[in-house]
Amino acid sequence: MNSFEEILNKEEFSKQDIITLLSSEGEQKQMLLKKALETKLKYVGNDVHLRGLIEYSNICEKYCLYCGVRNKNNKVIRYTITDQEVLDCARLALKLGYGSIAIQSGERTDEDFINKICFFLKEIKKLSDGKIGITLSCGEQTKETYKRWFDCGAHRYLLRIESSNKELFYRIHPKDDEHNFENRLRCIDDLINLGYQTGTGVMIGLPFQTIDNLADDLIYFKKKNVAMVGMGPFIAHPDTPLWKFKDNIPSNEQRMSMTEKMIGVLRLMMKEINMVAATADQTIDKQGREKAIIAGANVIMPNLTPNRYREEYLIYPDKACVGDKPEECYQCLDLRMRSIKHKILYNAWGDSIAFLKQHKKQENE
Ligand code: SAM
Repeated sequence: MNSFEEILNKEEFSKQDIITLLSSEGEQKQMLLKKALETKLKYVGNDVHLRGLIEYSNICEKYCLYCGVRNKNNKVIRYTITDQEVLDCARLALKLGYGSIAIQSGERTDEDFINKICFFLKEIKKLSDGKIGITLSCGEQTKETYKRWFDCGAHRYLLRIESSNKELFYRIHPKDDEHNFENRLRCIDDLINLGYQTGTGVMIGLPFQTIDNLADDLIYFKKKNVAMVGMGPFIAHPDTPLWKFKDNIPSNEQRMSMTEKMIGVLRLMMKEINMVAATADQTIDKQGREKAIIAGANVIMPNLTPNRYREEYLIYPDKACVGDKPEECYQCLDLRMRSIKHKILYNAWGDSIAFLKQHKKQENE
């Protein structure tokens, strides 16, 4: 049996090693987080990359059992941001020096929506003279749609697998044609094969989720060799079917602690990828995003959505920063990152080093 320190110093981790690391508490957890931070600083430095988040629309075809903007939640007032406002958000990102934006949306697969995203991609490239990198997070689409968006200028795509365990996936999604585990896997494979910097991730602290499931999630990310990962705590929403399990999930403190450990272990497994410090971290813990950054994350997604829409994109309750103006957010984040000896890298796309290196290698082969 390896000692905890021996496991920490390994280059390759067995599933049992991962479970041991994820189970660490107290001094051992601190050893894990220290090693993760050292690894991050060595391989990707103390730069924090920004993705200005535009929550384009809360109209969604899906009924995910955890999500506050799910189709069947009639309490939500549905919105779609105007074209002008989307382009203004991109201009603001440019002005604030955010090198990248992320367009996230409830899921739509109709031709109007697909064309509209193409329009935004082209216009934002034009208005920024190619200076703004664009990540999309618009859910499950056909390979053809992903290709169209890629050809229009999207180069990163975020689609969380939510859980890599099929049984758990169907406990948090309805089991029907629209929510299909194999299709989600197919989407992630398509994105990778099309050449996107592909990001995926999971929610942490879901009802029925075990440490074994979480270890398998990390193994799945590694197996797929993804360029980016976004993981954050599950937060129960009162208008969703999973609300009834709210008393059966780990406490806020435990979910935050497991999020730190998941980020830390993944940093040891995938040293050069980009990892997001999720807004959900800050929602359950005032220092949550800082904790995630110290544990190994290196990306933050400040919200650029016009304030009048934000209350209607509550995928979970009490979302952090909903009332903040983008300019306030900008200053607050800068200070917060300095306070933990990190620095925001302005005016840069902030691509995944892992992806760039792999791509270069393939070009040379
Ligand atoms: N529809 C797109 C998709 O599925 O990727 C993008 C929007 S979706 C609302 C973005 C992410 O929000 C999901 O991947 C999910 O992990 C997260 N999310 C939704 N409900 C949540 C909750 N109750 N707690 C924490 N995260 C949640």
